[in-house]
Amino acid sequence: MSDFWSRLLSLFALMAFVALIVWPIAGPVWALLVVCVGLLGQLIFHLRQLQQLNQWLANPQVRAVPEGRGVWEDTFVALYHLARRQSVSQQQLSKALARFQRAGEAMPDGVVMLDANDQIEWFNPIAAQQFGLNPKTDIGNPITYLLRQSQFNEYISAHNYSEPLVMKSSRSPDTTLAIQLVPFGEELKLLISRDITRFEQVETMRRDFIANVSHELRTPLTVVGGFLESLQDYTDLSEEDRAHFFDLMRDQTLRMQRLVEDLLTLSRLESAANPLQEETVPMSQLLQQLLAEAQGLSQGRHRIALEVLSESALLGSESELHSALGNLISNAVRYTPQGGEIMVRWEVLHGEGRFSVKDSGIGIEARHIPRLTERFYRIDRSRSRETGGTGLGLSIVKHVLTRHQARLEITSEVGHGSTFSVVFPASRLVNAAAVA
Ligand code: ADP
Repeated sequence: MSDFWSRLLSLFALMAFVALIVWPIAGPVWALLVVCVGLLGQLIFHLRQLQQLNQWLANPQVRAVPEGRGVWEDTFVALYHLARRQSVSQQQLSKALARFQRAGEAMPDGVVMLDANDQIEWFNPIAAQQFGLNPKTDIGNPITYLLRQSQFNEYISAHNYSEPLVMKSSRSPDTTLAIQLVPFGEELKLLISRDITRFEQVETMRRDFIANVSHELRTPLTVVGGFLESLQDYTDLSEEDRAHFFDLMRDQTLRMQRLVEDLLTLSRLESAANPLQEETVPMSQLLQQLLAEAQGLSQGRHRIALEVLSESALLGSESELHSALGNLISNAVRYTPQGGEIMVRWEVLHGEGRFSVKDSGIGIEARHIPRLTERFYRIDRSRSRETGGTGLGLSIVKHVLTRHQARLEITSEVGHGSTFSVVFPASRLVNAAAVA
């Protein structure tokens, strides 16, 4: 028999026992009265327990389960265990929800949760920044109302979200966003937005680069093709004309060769699989070599001087430094008219190694200076070509310097000349004693 029934039976047995004692002493009326008082007491007791239960049910999260007595004890104990289990699972749920929310907030992309009516339920800080959303005022607003862009409205109403929508951000027109809607649950949606501005820039640079290379190769190829046709068609050309055509074709072929070599150099410098070779480069020897090359290029048209003011050597790749510093010297020769002066200097200033080339050449307008190291950026295209330039020289210089943690400084005045300086960090300097 259960605890409940045995308690109830013992209660009735007690009342019957008391009534049986009272009956012979005071008569049946008193015995009945005793039973009635007992039952009334029981009624009040149960009503009191019920009232406590009701009070607790009105606010189960805040109040503790009341302590039941008598037959109510089991009920309240069971309720207590049930409430405890519920509270534990609720805590676990809240923790899991908080974890998901934190994960959503930590996402590098913007995330907006939308309900069945495309109203905003939640968004992370990146989405707030990308779309200018405010957590205090925008929760519950329709997303289409906040992102008032026809492209977006068309995308959301088309119900085909297999491809992302690429659009300019309404907040900053320089930012490009890729927006993807992901339906989930019952008519709910996640809006994921990614800033692809950098990716787009790289893509544009890649397209421009291919277009530039094709253009640079097409011109000499057309020239060579034209001369070959002429040689084929005009069999009666004089030896002199023929030699002249061959000379011109050789020039164009050399131009293509230089371009391809520069492209290969750039690609080698950019390759992650090509770590920098660290060797001690004696600067005075390297500079003497570069001076001889510059004199060869100048053919006596300029006065070229070299000042080696420090015996320090450099730690780095000799071939790369040769190419970068040689490029700066050859530019000085190429962009300085006949009779001009070029001064090459190596010194240690404030603990840093400084290589500089100063020319008295044509100079550069200030607005061009920040763009000079871009691939194929030339101020005067025809002058660059006439002097055998590919438009990649300073781009190569920039890459080599980056690999040596060095920086390029350019000062120039139109008509008066330019100074290109390369500053190497102290960590790349090797003192004279160590070199000897
Ligand atoms: P290029 O092969 O055309 O010389 P570079 O990348 O070496 O390409 O140089 C880019 C541009 O910078 C050149 O086309 C030229 O207009 C300018 N430039 C570079 N060095 C000098 C200089 N010493 N004096 C004047 N202009 C220069």
